[in-house]
Amino acid sequence: MDLLSNRPFWAEVNGIVESYPSLKKDLECDILVIGGGITGSLIAHQCMEDGYKTVLLDRREIAHGSTAATTAMLQYETDKPLHELIPLVGEGGAVGSFRAGIKAIERIGSLADEIDSKAGFEKKKALRFAAARKDVRWLQKEYETLKKYGFQVEWLNAEEIADRFHLQKTFGGILSEHAASIDAYRFAYELLNFNVKRGLRVYDKTELKKVHYRDNHNIAETTTGKRIAAKRIIYCTGYEATEMIKENFATLMSTYAIISERFVDDCGPLEKLLIWDTSEPYHYIRTTADRRILIGGEDERFKNAYKRDRLLDKKENRLRRYLKKILPEDDFYTDFAWAGTFAETNDSLPYIGRHRDFDNSYFVLGYGGNGITFSVIGMEMISAMLRGETHPLESYYRFGR
Ligand SMILES: Cc1cc2nc3c(=O)[nH]c(=O)nc-3n(C[C@H](O)[C@H](O)[C@H](O)COP(=O)(O)OP(=O)(O)OC[C@H]3O[C@@H](n4cnc5c(N)ncnc54)[C@H](O)[C@@H]3O)c2cc1C
Repeated sequence: MDLLSNRPFWAEVNGIVESYPSLKKDLECDILVIGGGITGSLIAHQCMEDGYKTVLLDRREIAHGSTAATTAMLQYETDKPLHELIPLVGEGGAVGSFRAGIKAIERIGSLADEIDSKAGFEKKKALRFAAARKDVRWLQKEYETLKKYGFQVEWLNAEEIADRFHLQKTFGGILSEHAASIDAYRFAYELLNFNVKRGLRVYDKTELKKVHYRDNHNIAETTTGKRIAAKRIIYCTGYEATEMIKENFATLMSTYAIISERFVDDCGPLEKLLIWDTSEPYHYIRTTADRRILIGGEDERFKNAYKRDRLLDKKENRLRRYLKKILPEDDFYTDFAWAGTFAETNDSLPYIGRHRDFDNSYFVLGYGGNGITFSVIGMEMISAMLRGETHPLESYYRFGR
């Protein structure tokens, strides 16, 4: 699958941070991680922490799937608001996922410290504002629900939003604590480099072609003609997993993003803020550590990469017009524009765990708008599953739920 188009900002500014060899000999390991995006890098890190002999493969360069395109806003709120998620999956799964999201964001922060990351992890607040008067009622309901379950949120009216953040044409919104942003592309490389120094084996340009399932291990065949005997395989194959799994469990979407040239000073009141609105599909805005404003959205159902990419100019113009409407005082000059494919699930929760067609294997598929947060939750969950323990969110994220 062609996952992205044009020049995603992160891959351009960072370049190829590290080049790994392709696989040229047969290997044995405890855990074979397939996919070297942000998910595979986090999961490989966890496996190394837990003391497993781990190998990671990617068919592309490292982090050249969706991880190169992501806008990497780290939030605990799922695409589905809490007051809609509770009736859908129950209080345990809904509130539990939101709480686990906060822990996950903190975990990324502590991981960034631990590995001395230069990927610009920054703690922020998140503002979700009503883009139309008709949305105020449900957004206030969401605010009440979040407050009821103890989440740190504040309701701001339109004047307060304009005053504090200079945003115009809003109808009030929820300001929440515990958000962050990062350069996920750089962070994926940093995690791998950190772990390579303590024994992780990484191979790029090496595709998993076929797996032979045995009683208590798997033999993986690669496109480089080599074999890896692994006790367990963990598939961190992102949206391309939709091509491996027979049932239809996710909807593929295209999303568009643009990023400004650097601002001379700073990005003013937007500096420590993530913004999203109540439009359908929603818009999302953040700043970067190097003083740029990034805006994304204008999602469409994904049909094919050609159709997705043909819309890029039109989508860029729409995103710029939208930004001018809500931030009239900012002069936005586009530096990069790109499109990426992502996937949504019906309940906005990820798929993490075993699948009946893949023995001795697990999937970590952080689908939805806050996929990276889900991938971090996946670290703890996979770690528990490998120890034979049950994770409290396991049943909410399983296939066939
Ligand atoms: C434009 C855009 C904006 C986004 N914004 C946000 C956001 O603000 N916050 C957020 O949390 N999430 C966001 N997301 C989602 C986020 O990007 C994804 O959750 C994340 O990038 C997924 O990472 P991954 O490692 O699972 O997938 P990928 O980065 O796609 O990595 C999967 C890897 O698996 C490899 N692979 C696949 N099959 C094989 C095989 N057979 N053999 C070997 N290797 C294989 C691929 O080459 C690929 O490198 C956004 C996505 C897009 C496209």
